Amino acid sequence: MVKDEHWIGIDLGGTWVRVAVSDENGHLVAKIVEKVDKSSAEAISDQMIRLIRFLCNKQGFSIKSLKGAGIAAKGPLIQAEGVLIHPTTIPFDCVPITRPISEELGIPACLINDAVGAALGEKKFGAAKGLSNYVYITISTGIGCGAIVSGTLLLGKDGNAHEVGHMVIDYEGRLKCGCGKRGHWEAYCSGSNIPNFVRISLEDMPKKRVEESLLLRMVGGDLSRLCAVDLFAAAGRADHISARLVEEIGILNAIGFANVTNLYDPSLITVGGTVTLKNSTMILDPIRKHVKDYVVNRIPKIEVTPLGDDVGLYGAIAAALTYI
Ligand SMILES: [Zn+2]
Repeated sequence: MVKDEHWIGIDLGGTWVRVAVSDENGHLVAKIVEKVDKSSAEAISDQMIRLIRFLCNKQGFSIKSLKGAGIAAKGPLIQAEGVLIHPTTIPFDCVPITRPISEELGIPACLINDAVGAALGEKKFGAAKGLSNYVYITISTGIGCGAIVSGTLLLGKDGNAHEVGHMVIDYEGRLKCGCGKRGHWEAYCSGSNIPNFVRISLEDMPKKRVEESLLLRMVGGDLSRLCAVDLFAAAGRADHISARLVEEIGILNAIGFANVTNLYDPSLITVGGTVTLKNSTMILDPIRKHVKDYVVNRIPKIEVTPLGDDVGLYGAIAAALTYI
């Protein structure tokens, strides 16, 4: 029988929902991952409740012994009301999160933007322990950020501060972002949009060289089949065109990192998200090389998060420990 205090951390992404039980020191006792049930707005909290019950049964302790639940989710959201409002990755106008969990399970719950939560998680459990000025950046399906400035986690009026993925990095606006506006950072460099950047870049390159590239062979000559993973795989096998595009993505990322550094003046930036974690050298080396061309503040250390795939869970647990 487990006697320690336990907390629930939930990382609600666009595709996957991860649920973990943690002790008060952030040690993950058990976790489970499922595809998000998007059949209705209510199905999302129902799924979380079911997964919390499942984990508690599995670990042999009662729901009543839980101290609370933290939920880190992609926004936009209203943190104080515990709801997602027109979330970018879930097709409903309003998704209630904390109230159904609290009412059904009788435990307190809090909501936080996932990248903002990750910054808090890194501060409590990861590489930012003891730091007063620190930023977390995720490069994944989208691009997001969380910032601790002079010891304070920046939240904004609703908890949606630092939508850095929607900062303009290309005033010509060659690519349209998922939000509908042009020239935004994540329209070029996020996992779901890198293929668009590759396609417009290849239009400007000599046709023969493109046709002879490993990249084009890997997609059977059909660029509409291209995924970000193909670009990094081809670059890793010394395909010249792919390596050049990875470098150009690095320059655009460096502009984003310089903007963030100029805004928040951190001493450390840790970086997570699937695109980073799967290609850490190809993502971080060009950023470190080019950020000096755009930054005015002293350049911070830039490292991969040591919390890996679980950074969202740690963020959720850190939020629960902080706000409940
Ligand atoms: Zn945008």
